Amino acid sequence: MLVLMNVNATDEQTQAVCRRVEELGYRPHVLPGATRCAVGVTGNQGAVEADALSQLPGVAEVVAVTKPYKLVSRDMKPEDTIVRFPGSDATIGGAELALIAGPCGVESRDQLFRVAEAVAHSGARFLRGGAFKPRTSPYAFQGLGEKGLEILAAAREAFGLLVVTEAIDHTSLALIEQYADMIQIGARNMQNFALLKLAGQASKPVLLKRGMAATLDELLMAAEYIMSEGNYNVVLCERGIRTFADHTRNTLDLGIVPAVKKRTHLPIVVDPSHAAGVRDKVVPLARAGVAAGADGLIVEVHCDPDRALSDGAQSLYPAQFDEMVRNLRGISVLVGRTMYEPASAPAEARR
Ligand code: PEP
Ligand code: MN
Repeated sequence: MLVLMNVNATDEQTQAVCRRVEELGYRPHVLPGATRCAVGVTGNQGAVEADALSQLPGVAEVVAVTKPYKLVSRDMKPEDTIVRFPGSDATIGGAELALIAGPCGVESRDQLFRVAEAVAHSGARFLRGGAFKPRTSPYAFQGLGEKGLEILAAAREAFGLLVVTEAIDHTSLALIEQYADMIQIGARNMQNFALLKLAGQASKPVLLKRGMAATLDELLMAAEYIMSEGNYNVVLCERGIRTFADHTRNTLDLGIVPAVKKRTHLPIVVDPSHAAGVRDKVVPLARAGVAAGADGLIVEVHCDPDRALSDGAQSLYPAQFDEMVRNLRGISVLVGRTMYEPASAPAEARR
């Protein structure tokens, strides 16, 4: 159910609608729009008694939303969501293509700082790197934990990058909320509903990766879990799915980009690294992702990938990343995107 307010409705009238929704036992979600505000209603099992809301002052119309995902749907919010970050003018979902780059995992201060400096220099505004790694084998590198988050936070200060890092459970999510700028929910946790709810209560934007066998509807319902708890800053990520094709680690489903754009106002970024699995296929997939209309890319970069503790084979060398970004500057113009130009070399790292 969606309550559309009049163009000239006051904030008090919108608040009165929210109070009425709460009295009815449902949850209101204020959705500011370009010209007018709307209030999304969730928590109702069946149809909400529309008359209880349509007669309130300032209400233009009450419309039923028939899709299973409500807050995620373009019906609820026609305008694209632009995710913003306090203290930065970087965005995801606006005109500027978002570039998130860094190693698969944080391995040491030196490793992360070297990559961070390089990707910042190339024009990335977001630094990725897992401190908590969900690994197939319990014997594989599991991440540095809180120590890794401290290193990420130090790199954030040194290079002016926003930090994106993965939460794998309740404990790591609480820590990441303190240290990072964006919480990544990985493919393996896309349907960890308890974790999604917790991410929905967090104060930081969420990067939600598509599960490796998830349909678009399942991805959108996972995003709905986060939004239903009150966190509206969700960015979707296509990172490839399992198919019979064995020439890449996963099959990058770029068809999902226009499908997402049609169904939801949420931004979507493409991860060519986990799709490709090997370095030489990353750049072509990255270019294709931008050409398909993605709002950004998340790319693995490592200065010494042969010695990386995870995903070295798919990690670009900094020089390859730099060349890729230069390539993308041409493509971005064709798809009506801007790209960040670093004004000068980033601040000297405090090593
Ligand atoms: C990662 O980003 O390093 C990662 C583990 O990704 P995914 O969840 O897509 O496998
Ligand atoms: Mn990885």
